[in-house]
Amino acid sequence: MSETDPLLMIPGPTNLPPEVREALGGPGFYHRGELMGRLLERCTAGLRRLMGIGGDALILTSSGTGALEAAVTTFLSPGDRVLAVQAGKFGERLGEIAEVFGAAVTPCVFEPGWPADPDVIRRELAAADSRALLCAHNETSTGVTHPIGEIAAAARDAGAFTIVDCVSCLGGVPVQGDDWGLDAIVAGSQKCLMLPPGLAFVGVRDEAWAAAERATMPGYYFDLRRARESLRRGQTPYTPNTSLIAALAASLDLIEAEGLKSVFARHHAMAEAVRAGMQAAGLELFAREGCRSDTVTAVRAPEGLDTVELVRVVAERNDVLISGGQGELKGTIFRIGHMGLVRFEHIERTLQAVADGLANLGYECNGDEMVWAAAEAAGVGVS
Ligand code: PLP
Repeated sequence: MSETDPLLMIPGPTNLPPEVREALGGPGFYHRGELMGRLLERCTAGLRRLMGIGGDALILTSSGTGALEAAVTTFLSPGDRVLAVQAGKFGERLGEIAEVFGAAVTPCVFEPGWPADPDVIRRELAAADSRALLCAHNETSTGVTHPIGEIAAAARDAGAFTIVDCVSCLGGVPVQGDDWGLDAIVAGSQKCLMLPPGLAFVGVRDEAWAAAERATMPGYYFDLRRARESLRRGQTPYTPNTSLIAALAASLDLIEAEGLKSVFARHHAMAEAVRAGMQAAGLELFAREGCRSDTVTAVRAPEGLDTVELVRVVAERNDVLISGGQGELKGTIFRIGHMGLVRFEHIERTLQAVADGLANLGYECNGDEMVWAAAEAAGVGVS
C-alpha cells in the first residue's frame, strides 16, 4: 500500500497487500484445469487451518451474506425451531435469512455493546426447544466479540446445530471450529483475508454433514452439498471468480508466512492501540470491557457531534476511510476497522486523521497524545 493510497480503516473492504494485487492481475486460467485444482487444494487447506477444522472448507463466489444463506439452507428445514442471538445488525440478519426460508426463529436479544450471555442462551435453547443456534462471532455493527466457545458449548449440550458468522473476524482472531464444536463457520474475502469482496467461505465440521442429509430448505447455487461434491474433483460446481481464488492463495501464503499466532497478536496489539488512542482523546468505547473486538472498534461520538459528518470530514481532509454507525446507531457512533493488513503506521495515520476531523467539527483533541497512548498500548516506539 502506498502512502498516497486512500487508507481503508472501515470494517471491510480492507487494504490489499502488494502480493494480493499482483495475483489479482495475473493471467486468466481455466476454472476446470489443473491449476484450479492445485489452487483449491492450497486454499482449502489454509482456510481449514484458520477455521480450526479437519472437515471441508468450501469456497463460494458471493459476498458473505450468500455464504450465510448457504449455511442456513443446506443444514436447516422449514419449520425448524431456531434460536438467533441478536445484539446488533449482523446477528439480526442471520435470523432474517432463516426466517425467509421458513424456520421458526426465536430471537435471543442482548443489548448492543454487550456480549451475549452463554447462560441465558442455554436457558433459551431449552425453553424454545431449538434445533439450531445462529450467532455472529464478531458483531461488526457494535465492535463486540461474543464468547463463541461457551455459546457453542451451550448449543452442543442442547443438541442444537450451530451456524456461526465469522465474516469480520476469521483470520484476525483464533477460531477453533472442531474444539468448540462449531458446525458451520461462515467468512468472507474482504475483511481479515485482505482481498476484494466476492468470495465467501463455509467451513463444515465432518460431523455436521448428517444434518444436510435431513435438511429440506430449497437452494441451488448455494447448495453446499454440490460444492462439497465438486471439491472432491478439485472444482467448484459453477464458474468461480478465478482471479480472486488466485489472490486468496497469495493472501493465505502471507498469513502462513507471518504465522497465525503473530497475525492474531498483531491484530490484538493494533486493536489495543486504537482503543487507547480513542480513550486518550476522552472518547468512550461503545463495547463493554472484556468483549471488545480485535478487528473493529466502535466509539461513541462526543455529545452533539454527528458521526455521519465526522466520517465525511475524515475522508475528505485526510483520505482515511472510517465508518459510521448502522441502524439505530447511525450518527451516534463511529467505527474503525483494524483487520487484515494493519500495522502501527496505519493506526497512527488514522488517529491523526480522526483527531483532525474531530477538531474540524469543534471537538478539540490532541492527535499526538492519541498516538503516544496508542504506541504505549501496542508496545511500539514512536518518533
Ligand atoms: N456478517 C458480518 C459480521 C459482517 O460484518 C458482514 C459485512 O460487513 C456481513 C455478515 C455481510 O457480508 P457481505 O457484505 O460480504 O455480504
